[in-house]
Amino acid sequence: MFLNSNFSYSKSNKSYSDLLLDLDSGKIQSIFFYPRRREIDVIYKDGRKEKIPILYNDQLIIEKASDNNVDLTINNSKRDSSIANSTASFFLLLIFIFGFVLIIRSTSKIASKAFGFGRSKAKFFSIEDVDTRFEDVAGVPEAAEELKEMINFFKDPTKLNQLGAKIPKGVLLIGPPGTGKTLLAKAIAGESGVPFLSISASEFVELFVGVGASRVRDLFEKAKENSPCIIFIDEIDSIGRQRGSGIGGGNDEREQTLNQLLTQLDGFTENSGIIVLAATNRPDILDSALLRPGRFDRKIEVLLPDKEGRKKILSVHSLSKPLSDDVDLNFWASRTVGFSGADLENLMNESAIHCARDNSKLINDKNIEDALEKITLGLRTSNVISTKIKKLRAYNEVGRAIISVVKNGIDSIDKITILPRSGLIGGYTKIAPDEDVITSGLISKRLLLSKIEIALGGRAAEIVVFGKNEITQYALNDLYYSTEIAKEMVTKYGFSVIGPVSLNNNSNDAVFLGNSLLRNKPIIADKTSTIIDNQIIDISKKSLENSIKIIKKNRYILEKIVEVLIEEETIDNERFRKISANFIKI
Ligand code: ADP
Ligand code: MG
Repeated sequence: MFLNSNFSYSKSNKSYSDLLLDLDSGKIQSIFFYPRRREIDVIYKDGRKEKIPILYNDQLIIEKASDNNVDLTINNSKRDSSIANSTASFFLLLIFIFGFVLIIRSTSKIASKAFGFGRSKAKFFSIEDVDTRFEDVAGVPEAAEELKEMINFFKDPTKLNQLGAKIPKGVLLIGPPGTGKTLLAKAIAGESGVPFLSISASEFVELFVGVGASRVRDLFEKAKENSPCIIFIDEIDSIGRQRGSGIGGGNDEREQTLNQLLTQLDGFTENSGIIVLAATNRPDILDSALLRPGRFDRKIEVLLPDKEGRKKILSVHSLSKPLSDDVDLNFWASRTVGFSGADLENLMNESAIHCARDNSKLINDKNIEDALEKITLGLRTSNVISTKIKKLRAYNEVGRAIISVVKNGIDSIDKITILPRSGLIGGYTKIAPDEDVITSGLISKRLLLSKIEIALGGRAAEIVVFGKNEITQYALNDLYYSTEIAKEMVTKYGFSVIGPVSLNNNSNDAVFLGNSLLRNKPIIADKTSTIIDNQIIDISKKSLENSIKIIKKNRYILEKIVEVLIEEETIDNERFRKISANFIKI
């Protein structure tokens, strides 16, 4: 049989009716019929070949052909295309399978990350791995001293236990970024020679609820296996944030993680040989449950280094870098007020780079000058303190200190500094908590009034020194604090002329902001709130007047201490006693 492709058919002039006639009259030898095509190939007995249009799937032609014994070949034209089709679909299938495998693989990767996290990501440092020592941490003597205590515990736990001394379970290192918190934690591990498990708290937080919690569990399990050891949780504020704050529900995952952390902290005893160290630069946003005794009950502040500290840090970081003989680190320490340890390290590094660029062997003053210029250009302006701001800070801090001494005695002053502290704009005066209040838990009217006067001491000093119109917003936080106390005096404790009424009905549930917005409609009459406001203003004004009186009487001592503070940046109790020997009488 012929294959149609071997023939060349001429387009026919014959019509459909001709075809039917020809079929009946037996002129046709064979017909090639293509289903779905509207023509057929016809071979006549005389050898002609024609293409003749027919109806779609014409059954009449088929019938006629078989009636007249004409060879009828049904040509499956779909075969060719179906081969092409099937190859195409085969490739499609391949692509599909390939894509599918890819998707499965990537999702399984995500899934294994999310669900099968398995181990916590705690880096495990063996004893040899931590070679940091306390000598490497300079300029933070108080923090280092407190932490050294803990090393004794690891070195000789029985001795401490016999003395009945308790080592805290959790120690929180608080301070601005780059002051050496991580470094201190490493130094403890290095000195005590115990394993050091460190994790950044942000690694606990994952997409799926529950993952962080089991990571915490895992971490503590690992720690128990390796006891005695140190767990170090860096940047704990990322999970330790106050729970339940904000409208619209918090972050469930973070809350669960925090809850788990709290449970784990409660779960081991003082003598299990595990100490949990944590670091943060935002202590103000931490959940109060974290700071309760038995958890992170010990807080160690790592402050920005003062001049002496900066000098030491500079010399630590120039040990490996050859300095020219005429470089005076004292001078550079005084030029770098507000620098953290990390900033100072950076400064020495930059100096070495400038030195190498000059092709010289020793780092000279010019190299350091260039490096300093480069660094301070990129620094936040708050880091570089101008003399004017220094002075303002000094008057504010010393002002408060003076009121505190007048009210509560010289022992109430712990430390005064003009170095910025984490989370706050200015320096601060650390005032020792009142012993009486701690032991008895009683709050007297006199005590609250003196707290307000102390808080307003900074503003009072500004008024006395610079004049009423030259005051600044520096005392903003203090004003907020003193107003809060005044408000409590009036509305909670009944300490004002309004009388013995407690109008404060939402003392504990400020946690759910939404809650208090929605439910706590004020039950105080408009008239009463006016009186309350007036009372608060009255108390604040009178207190400020008192503070101004005290500052005026002690103007001389104020100036003297401010002078020393600007020079030394930090004054502790001992130094304070020395420079203010002939103190204030009012
Ligand atoms: P953070 O307080 O933010 O955890 P780090 O401990 O990570 O700061 O400090 C970063 C780097 O800065 C340290 O690796 C160290 O080189 C340097 N550094 C910071 N503080 C000090 C310090 N007190 N003494 C020496 N180097 C310091
Ligand atoms: Mg750190």
